Amino acid sequence: MTYALVLNSGSSSIKFQVLDSAAAASDEPLVSGLVEQIGEPNGKLVIKIRGEKYTSEESIPDHSAGLAKAFGIMAEHGVGPKDLDLTAVGHRVVHGGKVFSAPEIINDQVVEMIRDLIPLAPLHNPANVDGIEVAREILPDIPHVAVFDTGFFADLPPAAALYAINGEVAGENGVRRYGFHGTSHEFISQQVPALLGKDPSAVNQIVLHLGNGASASAVKGGHAIDTSMGMTPLAGLVMGTRCGDIDPGIIFHLYRTAGLSIDEIDTLLNKKSGIKGLSGVNDFRQLREMIENGDTDAWSAYNIYIHQLRRYIGSYMIALGRVDAITFTAGVGENAKFVREDALAGLEMYGIQIDKDRNDLPNDGPREISTDESAVKVFVVPTNEELAIAQKATALATAQV
Ligand code: AMP
Repeated sequence: MTYALVLNSGSSSIKFQVLDSAAAASDEPLVSGLVEQIGEPNGKLVIKIRGEKYTSEESIPDHSAGLAKAFGIMAEHGVGPKDLDLTAVGHRVVHGGKVFSAPEIINDQVVEMIRDLIPLAPLHNPANVDGIEVAREILPDIPHVAVFDTGFFADLPPAAALYAINGEVAGENGVRRYGFHGTSHEFISQQVPALLGKDPSAVNQIVLHLGNGASASAVKGGHAIDTSMGMTPLAGLVMGTRCGDIDPGIIFHLYRTAGLSIDEIDTLLNKKSGIKGLSGVNDFRQLREMIENGDTDAWSAYNIYIHQLRRYIGSYMIALGRVDAITFTAGVGENAKFVREDALAGLEMYGIQIDKDRNDLPNDGPREISTDESAVKVFVVPTNEELAIAQKATALATAQV
């Protein structure tokens, strides 16, 4: 077994897993855990070791204390970092800017470069840097690897990456499309050619990562040629709490006429919009129930969501010219059969035919949901970003030795 530790550090939380980088996507990790409310009086640590759950509630002053506590509990059960002889620590880093297009072994210089990208991701990169520094201190002898959410999209063609705003202002301020969820889009798009029985270089595909955050990508021969998230993860599809694409003039209107501050607009569009802002809930299970009970706001929210999703599918079909596969993944994409059905309804003339019985099967590994006659194959492939990060970190760490 080659175990890797994967860390996803937020401003007041750390999500972590220890997993075998050779595991199947559906395998349970050896350890998974979440430290929450770091820096608040009521900190919480939930950790699952070989399927058994342990909980601790006490104040956790900082990220360092949180990780130390988690490692302590793991060690008590014989699965501490020292017991496992970890091959690598993989860190999820949200923004790699234009600098990082591939995972990188972390050294002091790389930490500084990630820190320099904070203006592009003020909500995420500071916590990512904290997590890296703390983990390097506690585990100094293990290679640490940064895996960037933007990496898969670093080589988008300029026509897809650049915005039609003043070039000088955009250039000086790093304003361009970076794209996010790249680890998932790459992980999924790498599995689809095998499902099709084709060489990756010959496959044109659309990947729909529909979770609480949601994004679409167009991938040609293994390279992303477009994606729906933009300079920030606010753009594109309608999401659980984020608005997705809107007219930028709305922001001026809310500021000038409605009198909202820039911070209030930021919170409104990121946390109080999307499905939640329209219906009051952001979970598709609840949304579905509300629709079945005749709730008109829920129905309207759902229609706006599907309409926007179909817009992207249509535009990526044109961008790709020929589409071999459309793949659904993440919480909504893997589980909400009604979303899959409505997203692709009535597209038979474009060679897309969903098989209702296949689509109705429960989520259980990668599977085809199109008919045998469908020219465009439609798949559901579970994503596993932690496994993808573990694989990348392990590959880079072992190549170094
Ligand atoms: P993710 O961000 O990928 O973890 O996705 C989380 C979202 O997936 C939740 O907010 C739900 O909207 C959705 N979801 C999870 N399980 C189901 C399910 N069984 N049916 C419908 N939607 C689901």
